[in-house]
Amino acid sequence: MTRRRQIYEGKAKILYEGPEPGTIIQYFKDDATAFNAQKKGTINGKGVINNRISEYVFTRLSHIGIPTHFIRRLNMREQLVRQAEIIPIEVVVRNVAAGSICKRLGIEEGEQLPHTLIEYYYKDDALGDPLIAEEHIACFGWANNEEMQDISSMAIRINDFMVGMFAAINIRLVDFKLEFGRVFDGDYSRVILADEISPDGCRLWDMETNEKMDKDRFRQDLGGEEDAYNEVARRLGILQNDDSGPGEVFDLSAHRTKLRGKTK
Ligand code: UDP
Repeated sequence: MTRRRQIYEGKAKILYEGPEPGTIIQYFKDDATAFNAQKKGTINGKGVINNRISEYVFTRLSHIGIPTHFIRRLNMREQLVRQAEIIPIEVVVRNVAAGSICKRLGIEEGEQLPHTLIEYYYKDDALGDPLIAEEHIACFGWANNEEMQDISSMAIRINDFMVGMFAAINIRLVDFKLEFGRVFDGDYSRVILADEISPDGCRLWDMETNEKMDKDRFRQDLGGEEDAYNEVARRLGILQNDDSGPGEVFDLSAHRTKLRGKTK
């Protein structure tokens, strides 16, 4: 087998040169980081699950007309995607207050926001991904006005679709992060959805128990992150390791107790 050229290694993924020009292979690792990589660990099997969840979500988004970089899944941990010039902005969509907005504005976690909020963060690890305004994006030319129109309208459409998709499986979509990239066609460029959508970059709460089913389990040392990621995939119907009855309310704390042989 020929060795592939590695283009980039990030916190949760490695990018390799793809088989054809303009393509890239995304390899999903089990590595997990939080708090700007100050906390490091692994979540066993996370890469395999995130590869599948992201494939599923990107495919469904393409069915509602969102242009994405996803081409096809290659194997358990890899997917083939279109090469895009990543726009250096993390787009965060929030429906319910959690995480940094609670700290910044003194809002209680779990508070439903009056309406969906879109925030922009400048993608720069050394600066800790600072919150920015659209004016900064225009001022420094990170994206032009037309691109920002496309990004914000896609973010809202993606949110509307994903809120419904997760509600159908009893999961509240609290917030999530998106990244976009540019693809070029002669003199023209257009914006497409890039990166991944998985429990690494979303906050997902069980609608009945409010149990966290995302990377906050790792960030907050709650344990049971493998079970949580698996459960999201199972409910989406993309993993068949179903040993609980259909429709049963999932209780991670019960799983944790069982797994660790401890009582609560
Ligand atoms: N997020 C992400 N990558 C980042 C920062 C945030 O995927 O570098 C996701 C995070 O998982 C959450 C949402 O974006 O679903 C909002 O994150 P927040 O601003 O609350 O930051 P955090 O709590 O991670 O500091």
